[in-house]
Amino acid sequence: MVAAPRPPRFDAAAEEVARTAAAAPDWPSLARSASGCLACPELAAARRNVVVGDIPVAGRPLVALVGEAPGATEDETGRPFVGKSGALLDQLLAEAGLDRGRAAVLNVVKCRPPGNRTPRADEVGRCSGWLRRQLQLLDPPAVIALGLSAAKWFLGPRTVLARAREVGPVEWEGRGLYVTYHPSAAIRFGPNGAPRAALAADLRAVAYLVGARETR
Ligand code: SF4
Repeated sequence: MVAAPRPPRFDAAAEEVARTAAAAPDWPSLARSASGCLACPELAAARRNVVVGDIPVAGRPLVALVGEAPGATEDETGRPFVGKSGALLDQLLAEAGLDRGRAAVLNVVKCRPPGNRTPRADEVGRCSGWLRRQLQLLDPPAVIALGLSAAKWFLGPRTVLARAREVGPVEWEGRGLYVTYHPSAAIRFGPNGAPRAALAADLRAVAYLVGARETR
């Protein structure tokens, strides 16, 4: 186990987000504050919804799944992973024996970048306060970073996804951190591609480790 480095350096807007997020005593309060966030002018102007995240109706999540940013369907509905990637994620979670209803589903960046571009470092830095506080409030024993943006958030900007995945779980602030492929990569490489097989295997392994599944 190794301790992960801290997420990207904060600027003034990021510090304001971090202060506000840290002051949120619970999830509803954080969700209310995040829903009105204007820290990234370009994203705030273009979004329909701030996609704060999904959490279990009750109880501590078994695991937090962390992706990159909302896409068009997520922006429209205000919920994470509900488009094509979300459908595949739901299917693979079900096959793994992991109930999405017992997981937290989050993103590094809560507003859709225009044209689905990769979020910029300043946007990731500004949104970091929300995610950090979400993980503190939810306190999941395990976290799965889905794709490179999420892996970099936890492990630093030089992270190489395939290498981080091969290393296996590391400790991040007292939680087991697992790095795997984003469902969009699994879709891009097709049903017989390596990312889909890897993602499915990783979800099965995490389900086993968090006790959602009794046998592999
Ligand atoms: S991406 Fe995050 S920090 Fe930027 S405006 Fe949206 S909620 Fe705020």
